Amino acid sequence: MSEGGDTLADIRAEDEYAIWKMARRYGREKWLVFTIGGIATVLSRAMELVPAYILAVAIDSLFFDERAFNLVGIPQAWLPTDVETQLVLVLTLLSAAYFLESFLSWVNDWCWNNFAQHFQHSVRVDTYDAMQHRGKAFFDDKQTGEIMSVLNSDVNQLENFLTSSFNDMIRIIVRVCGMGGVMLIINWRLGIIPTIVIPALAVASYLFVKLIHPKYQEVRSSVGALNSRLENNIAGLTVIKAYNREVYETGRVRDSSERYFDANWDAIRTRILFFPAIRLITKAGYVATFLIGGWWVISGPPHPFFQGTMTAGTLVMFLSYTDRFMYPMRNFGQILNDYTYAEAAGERILGLLDSEPQIAPDEDSIRLEHLRGEVEYDDVRFSYEGEEGREEVIHGVSFRADVGDYVGLVGPTGAGKSTLMELLMRMYEVDSGEIRVDGHDIRDIHPRDLRDSISYVAQDPYLFYGTVKANIAYGADDVDDTEIRRAAERAGAHEFICDLPEGYETMVGERGVKLSGGQRQRVSIARAILEDPDILILDEATSHVDNETEAVIQQSLEELVANRTTFAIAHRLSTVRNADTILVLEEGKVVERGTHDELLGENGLYATLWSVQVGEVEDLPAEFVERSRGG
Ligand code: ATP
Repeated sequence: MSEGGDTLADIRAEDEYAIWKMARRYGREKWLVFTIGGIATVLSRAMELVPAYILAVAIDSLFFDERAFNLVGIPQAWLPTDVETQLVLVLTLLSAAYFLESFLSWVNDWCWNNFAQHFQHSVRVDTYDAMQHRGKAFFDDKQTGEIMSVLNSDVNQLENFLTSSFNDMIRIIVRVCGMGGVMLIINWRLGIIPTIVIPALAVASYLFVKLIHPKYQEVRSSVGALNSRLENNIAGLTVIKAYNREVYETGRVRDSSERYFDANWDAIRTRILFFPAIRLITKAGYVATFLIGGWWVISGPPHPFFQGTMTAGTLVMFLSYTDRFMYPMRNFGQILNDYTYAEAAGERILGLLDSEPQIAPDEDSIRLEHLRGEVEYDDVRFSYEGEEGREEVIHGVSFRADVGDYVGLVGPTGAGKSTLMELLMRMYEVDSGEIRVDGHDIRDIHPRDLRDSISYVAQDPYLFYGTVKANIAYGADDVDDTEIRRAAERAGAHEFICDLPEGYETMVGERGVKLSGGQRQRVSIARAILEDPDILILDEATSHVDNETEAVIQQSLEELVANRTTFAIAHRLSTVRNADTILVLEEGKVVERGTHDELLGENGLYATLWSVQVGEVEDLPAEFVERSRGG
C-alpha cells in the first residue's frame, strides 16, 4: 500500500445513511428497549415543560394577582382557594415534576445504553465474521492495524453516537416541538421570535455537514494508517533494534501521526468555527425574545404586530422555555458533528460487513464428508493482484496425484510452491484451468468440506494464546487428553511439552511461554496428526528442527503420510527423497518431474540442487543462480 493511502477505501459503502441501515438491521433484536427508551425520552422532555408553566401561574396569580389560580388539566373545583395551600400545591407539583423527570431520564439512559451496547457488540462480532470470510487476497494489501481500527475504533464511534448524540437528537426534537408548540399556542406572536432561529440553524447545519464529511473520512482512514504503522513496528521491534533503525522508525511514526494530525486539525478548524456560530444564532434568539417580551411587559406591545397584554409570569415562562429550547440547539452542532463522524465510521463498517466473500459456497456446492485424495491440476494459471495490475505467477501447471501419493514440491525460492498449495486450499481462486479433487472441480466443493479434509503444517506455524493442549486440539472437536498426548508423542513433541512449567496446560503464544520455531512446528504436526486429514500439506515442516529431531519427526511423518495424499514443500531435498513423485518448479512452471532417482538421471535442476546439498559440488552453477534471481 502507498504510505498515505487508504486501502479500505475500495470497500467503503457508497450508500448514504450507513448508520440508519445498521440501526435497522441490528436494532430489531432490541426494539422493545429502543421503544421504551424513546418513550422515556419524550416523556422526560415533556416533564420539563411543567415547572416553568407552574412557576408562571404562581408568579401571576400568587405574587402579582394578575389572574385567577388555575392549572391546565386540573378541574377548578379541586384547586384550593387560600393562598398558603395554593403555594403548597405549587411546591408539591414542582417536586413531583422534578422527580418524574429524573426517573424518566434514568429509564431513558438505561435503555439507550443497553441498546447501544448490544448494538456495538453485534456489529463488532458480525463485522469480524464477515472479515474472516473474505478471501486471502483481501488481506494481501491490507494492514492489520487498519482492519483493527474498523473493528475497534469505528465500532466504538458508532456506539458513542448511539449512546449520547442520538439520544440528544430525540431530546432536541421533543424540546423544539414541545416547547416551540407551547410557546406558539400561548402567544404565537412572541413565540415566532425564538422559533425563527430554526431555519437559520438548519441552513448552517447543512453547510457544516457538507463541509466536514469528507474531512472525517480522511480522519478515519488516517487513524487506520497510523494504527497499521504502530502495529507493524511493535511486531518488528526485534528487527528495528537489530538494525538500529529506531530514529528511522520514529520518523515514519511521526509521518503517519502527522497525517492524522493534519486531517484532524483540518476537521477541528471547521468544527470550532461552526459551534460558536450556532451559539451566536441561538443567543440572538434569546436576546430578541427578552427584548421584545420585556418591552411588552413594561410599556405594552412594541409594534402593532404584537397585540394584547404580556404578564411578567408569561415572560418568565417564555424565557425559561426559550433558554431550554435554545440550550440543546447549541448542542445541535455537536450532534451533527458526531453524526457525520459516526457516518464515516459506519460506511467503513458497512463496507466490510456487506462485502461479498470472494470464496463462498453456493446452493449447488457439493458436500463431501471425506475425500479420497485424488488431486489433479489441469493447466492452472494464477496471478496475484499487484501494484500495477495482476501479475501471473503460475503459468499453466498440470500434474496428477493419486490417492495416497506422496508428492514433493521443490525448486528455487519464489518458484510458486506455496502458491500452488494455497490454490488447492482455495485461499485464492485460479484464473484459468481447474484443480480437481476426487474428480470434482474444487470450486464446486463446499469450501468448508474441502478445508476440513486438508491439514496444513506451515513453515512458521502460528500458535494462539492458550494452552499447548488447546493448540494441539485446535479445530478438532471432541478429543480427549489421551489422544492429544498420543499425537504429541508421534510428532516428537511430548518430551519438551512435559518439560514446560505446566506441561500440556502451559500457556503459549503471545503473552505465554515462548516456544522455539522447531517446538512450534512439532505442535503443529501434532495438530495435523490429530486432525487425521485426507490430504496433508507440509510446507517445510521440518525446516526449524535439528537433524536429530528431524529424524524423529520424519519417522512420525512417514506414518502420517502413509495412507493419505501428501504434498511436501521442501528445500531440504532429503525430506522428499522417498516421494512417489517430485515436481521441480521454476518461475511458476513444472520444469522436471519424476522420482528422486529418475530426476538424478536427468541431470537437470534437481540433480544440481541435490549435488549442492550433499556437498558433491561447492555451489550452484552461475546459470542456476541467475535463473533463481529471475535473470
Ligand atoms: P519459497 O520457497 O520462498 O516459500 P515459493 O516457491 O513457495 O517460495 P511463492 O511463495 O508461491 O513461492 O511465490 C511465488 C511468486 O508469487 C513469488 O514471485 C512471490 O513474490 C509472489 N507472491 C507470493 N505471495 C504473494 C502475494 N500475496 N501477493 C503478491 N505476490 C505474491
